[in-house]
Amino acid sequence: MTEFEVIRRYFTRPAKSAAMGVGDDCARLRVADGMELAITTDMLLEGRHFLSDAEPRALGHKALAVNLSDLAAAGARPCWIVLAIALKSADEPWLAAFSAGLFALAERHGVELVGGDTTRGERTVISIAALGEVPAGTALSRAGAKPGDDLWVSGELGGAALGLVHPEIAEAAARLHRPEPRIALGQRLRGLASAAIDVSDGLAGDLAHILERSRVGARVSYELVPRAAAFRALGDAALEKDCVLSGGDDYELLFAAPAGRRGELQALARELALPLTRIGAVEAGEGLAIVDAAGREMAFRGGFDHFAR
Ligand code: ADP
Ligand code: MG
Repeated sequence: MTEFEVIRRYFTRPAKSAAMGVGDDCARLRVADGMELAITTDMLLEGRHFLSDAEPRALGHKALAVNLSDLAAAGARPCWIVLAIALKSADEPWLAAFSAGLFALAERHGVELVGGDTTRGERTVISIAALGEVPAGTALSRAGAKPGDDLWVSGELGGAALGLVHPEIAEAAARLHRPEPRIALGQRLRGLASAAIDVSDGLAGDLAHILERSRVGARVSYELVPRAAAFRALGDAALEKDCVLSGGDDYELLFAAPAGRRGELQALARELALPLTRIGAVEAGEGLAIVDAAGREMAFRGGFDHFAR
C-alpha cells in the first residue's frame, strides 16, 4: 500500500462541519463569532507510552482520549483533530482496528478528523492535535483557584496505575487502556469551577500545577479521594496510596470551586451520572498537604517527568 492508499482507506471520512477536510494542502475550519479556539496536542510513542503488542483498537481510542481530555479540562467543546502518524508498515488489520477505535470515540463526540501526515518509521508514533471551541473569555485554566475554594475530583483515581501493575484486573486494565475523557463535565464547569486540570500524571503532581499557577496551597484528605473498587479486595495499602495519589493516566478532572457552589455541583453529578467528590480545600500560602484519617501529613510521590530516562 502507498501512503495515499493508507490515508484514503483508513483516515478519510466525508467532511461535515469542516469547510475543507482531508485531501488538500490545508484543512479549513469555520469558527463561530464570539468563540475562541482551544488547541492541544499529545503524542504516544511505542516503547514509551505503549508496547509494540498493544491492542490497536484501544490505542486508537486512547490516542484521541488523551487529547480530548485536555480540551475537557479547558471547558472546550471538541470539534476537529489532525493526526500525524509514523507506521512501521502498512499492516491492514492493525490500521483497521486503530482507525475504528479512533473514529468510534470521535463520532461519539462529533469530532472530525480533518488532516494529518503519514510516514513510515522505525517505531509507531501517534501524534494528534485537537481543536475545540469555547465562548470567548469563559475557558477554564489551571490559574484561578482561591483560598477557601473546595477541591473536587470526578470519577475515581488510581485504576489506570493499578492496571499497569495488575493487568489481570479487568476494571483496572480498562481504565488504563480505554480512558473516558470528561467532555460533558468540562463544558458544564464553565462559570462554576475557578480552576481545572485533567489528571494525566497523578493527583499530587497535577494538583501541584493548579497550586503553582493559582499561587495558593491546598490540603487534601487521603481518605476522601475516590478510588477504584479493586483496591479493597487487594489489601495492599502501599500500592493503593501510590496509585491513588501519584498514579497517572486516569484522565479524570480535578477542579476548584467556591464552597457556595456545592449544591450545583452535586446536582450536576446526578445529572451526568458521574460522581463528583470533594477531597479537600484550597488554602492561602503555598504547598500541598495530604493528610490521613487522623489528620497527620502523609509523604507522597510528586509529579511525573516525561523527560526522565
Ligand atoms: P502534503 O504533502 O501537502 O502535506 P500529504 O500528502 O502529507 O499532504 O497528505 C495528503 C492529505 O492527506 C492532506 O490533506 C493531509 O492532511 C491528509 N493526511 C495525511 N495523513 C493523514 C492522516 N494520518 N490522517 C488524516 N489525514 C491525513
Ligand atoms: Mg504532509
